[in-house]
Amino acid sequence: MIPYGRQSINQEDIDAVVRTLQSVWLTQGPAIPAFESAVAARCLARYAVAVSNATAALHIACLALEVKPGDLVWTSPITFVASANCARYCGADVDFVDIDPATQNMSPIALAEKLAQAKKRKRLPKVIIPVHFAGQPCDMETIGRLAHEYGCRVIEDAAHAIGATYHGRPTGSCQHSDITVFSFHPVKIITTGEGGMALTNDEKLARQLARLRSHGIAREACEMLKESEGSWYYQQIDLGFNYRMTDIQAALGSSQLQRLDCFVAKRRELADRYDKLLSDLPIDLPGRALHRRSAWHLYPIRVAAEMRHDVFEAMRKEGIIVQVHYIPVHLHPYYQEMGFRLGDFPHAEEYYRRAFSLPLYPDLTYEQQDIVVDTLRRALA
Ligand SMILES: *Cc1c(COP(=O)(O)O)cnc(C)c1O
Repeated sequence: MIPYGRQSINQEDIDAVVRTLQSVWLTQGPAIPAFESAVAARCLARYAVAVSNATAALHIACLALEVKPGDLVWTSPITFVASANCARYCGADVDFVDIDPATQNMSPIALAEKLAQAKKRKRLPKVIIPVHFAGQPCDMETIGRLAHEYGCRVIEDAAHAIGATYHGRPTGSCQHSDITVFSFHPVKIITTGEGGMALTNDEKLARQLARLRSHGIAREACEMLKESEGSWYYQQIDLGFNYRMTDIQAALGSSQLQRLDCFVAKRRELADRYDKLLSDLPIDLPGRALHRRSAWHLYPIRVAAEMRHDVFEAMRKEGIIVQVHYIPVHLHPYYQEMGFRLGDFPHAEEYYRRAFSLPLYPDLTYEQQDIVVDTLRRALA
């Protein structure tokens, strides 16, 4: 069986976890700030807040940007549901911006048009959440400029994209956004089992994120609304959550981070090899954009829509666990209930009819990759 994605764990990762298990701190200890500083330094961001998963990071990122009931949040329809659900947790309404069929990322042209219309109707989004689909960065310069022009904030959903670069700068640097979110789920680029992180260059946002992760509690005198009553004292000043990461997870994360460049290089090498091996088949390969280096979380291909179901099932039957990324979010029953319909985002829907992702992860061998290619070739024949 060859899965579409999986983690790569070595002896150093295991040793790092065991050392933490034998230490004083299993949670709320020194491994957390160490992991946060390492990711912030790697991504050229000033602040990083580790949390229990990327969904939690998206939730508190929306809250830190003051997303409230009645507000509007826009994201891409080709994403995991968490990119939209975070707005719903805050009571906000969700809408989508169709994708660019060349990259499957939020189309900056569609965004510009939709913002112009939204301004006329006086219903602009408070936050825009572009998603770096498959690990390839969105056109952040244009998205950031449009957001600034219309007074919106930006959260980058970079769950796929730690290790990617945009015009030479690492994803996570928040050059064109307020907050960037990473996921450390085992299928993503680096893992902590479950885990996520929110990065920002804004000190006030960083403090809010850190408070919201831990019950809304302030421990430093400068954050408190009343004077401290003693060294035991803390104050709850917002309604927060327990969204903390453990030290066990953070120790694994720091160890994994040391191999981030190797992981991405290996993924890129395998993606290039797929490009060559598949070049004569009647399929569309993942699009690449200028000035961007993908982290290659996924290798999504497109076949003729009439063939997708059978090719997919044939590969699964042969033990190649391909997967579809993604069912357009607006087509899920929960979102259809809000009035979204088939036809609302035609590029996303057309992509969905044709797409599935081939296995791609650092430990995938050339032999396994050859089996995937042969199986696909037979399924298409
Ligand atoms: C995986 C993923 C998430 C959620 O990540 P978790 O860490 O599992 O909560 C959010 N957005 C996208 C695009 C994802 O792929």
